[in-house]
Amino acid sequence: MKNTNSMNRRNFLKNSAMGVVGAGVLGQAPLLNAEDKTVKTPATAVAPEKIKAYRTLGRTDFKVSDIATGGNPNPAVLKAVLEAGVNYIDTAESYGNGESEKTTGSVIKDFNRKSLFITSKLNLQKGSSKENILERTHKCLERLQTDYIDCMMIHGPQTSEEVKTEGFHEAMKQLKSEGKIRWVGISNHGATYGPVAEPMEKVLLAAAADGRFDVMLLVYNFIQQESGERVLNACADKNIGCTLMKTKPVEKYLIMKEMVEERAKKEGKEIAEETKKLLDGFKERADMAAEFMKKNNITDPREIRDAAIRFVLKNPKVHTVCINFRNFDDIDPFIKLSGSPMTAGDEKKLTLYREGCGSFYCRHACGVCESRCPHGVPVNTVMRYNHYFEFQGREKEAMGKYAALPTPKAGLCETCAGFCQAACPYNVQIHGLLSHAHRNLTLA
Ligand code: SF4
Ligand code: SF4
Repeated sequence: MKNTNSMNRRNFLKNSAMGVVGAGVLGQAPLLNAEDKTVKTPATAVAPEKIKAYRTLGRTDFKVSDIATGGNPNPAVLKAVLEAGVNYIDTAESYGNGESEKTTGSVIKDFNRKSLFITSKLNLQKGSSKENILERTHKCLERLQTDYIDCMMIHGPQTSEEVKTEGFHEAMKQLKSEGKIRWVGISNHGATYGPVAEPMEKVLLAAAADGRFDVMLLVYNFIQQESGERVLNACADKNIGCTLMKTKPVEKYLIMKEMVEERAKKEGKEIAEETKKLLDGFKERADMAAEFMKKNNITDPREIRDAAIRFVLKNPKVHTVCINFRNFDDIDPFIKLSGSPMTAGDEKKLTLYREGCGSFYCRHACGVCESRCPHGVPVNTVMRYNHYFEFQGREKEAMGKYAALPTPKAGLCETCAGFCQAACPYNVQIHGLLSHAHRNLTLA
């Protein structure tokens, strides 16, 4: 929800003499007067929000901010986020083809390196011999312009066997002894593509049992609680640090109907009968969502989003929550959630939302329905790419990933009877969502 008490950072920049200098100065209260070079505090500027809580990241003993940053596409935004007190940075070799690491490197050199906890990730499907992992880690270090990475993770392993990849573990052992890697981790959000992968829970429980992993990045949110809770419990038993992603399954699903109708208008086409059926299904759900919002006096979906983050932070087994800060407007609203307790009002809103609108959310790391698709469309992966496209501002990357999928795509869904939807235990309106995702990801 927008912070109505303070000027947001973009306006702050626009309206302050320092705007032309850049966002790096945000968080430092005094401003330099361009005329007389004296330092003054502007009467109109309200101090930006700051991180209020730090938690011990399991056995690493590192005190990390409860709000972390992930993705990191914009250096000025990342700098402002770190100045707000965020000290956990999540990146990966594959994010923007190394660009995310480069951005991170360009920003962290102006900060006390020891105050930051930086994680990167390597996808073992791109190579898993010890030599390959050593070489790629050195490239990560170069892009990050740092002597060490706090935690190197296996990026989304597809099976519990992959967790044990010896080349990775041997390389980590050597890099740890050289001081280039401090801790070893693993991330998982279910299938990368195709219906063959094991679910997140199975892979991460295998990693916890393996004993060589110090940190995990997993999916856990108020709609999709059970599997995440089982992983969090296993991690707590072994004192493994836990970072979350996909914590707020809300946002634009509430306005899906408008988006689809707007698109149809822009295309200026007659809507095909099959598509019309899908849109009708959407409309029904979207009307339910609108009714829900009205009935519960929720004027802004971001109220649910904020409650969703407070919900996961209520769990002491969670150490930090990754947020993709897309722009300056994202900073204060998310930072202010640091250290803020969940309220009875939050609890009520989330319960109502789960009951009323839970069927809008294709659960991350699920894939239960995929075996029912006669064409082998990777339902969960398509929806995850659409999540990157619609909610994380990663349109180009999401489209590239979708184009590179080696499986049949969701263009097939428009003329299908929707077998996957019938198989979804959560009653997700997935048939229509898949067609919508395909259009986004191909700009059809
Ligand atoms: S549509 Fe339902 S069963 Fe299929 S992946 Fe999404 S949540 Fe799981
Ligand atoms: S709508 Fe049909 S083609 Fe599309 S994923 Fe579902 S079953 Fe497969």
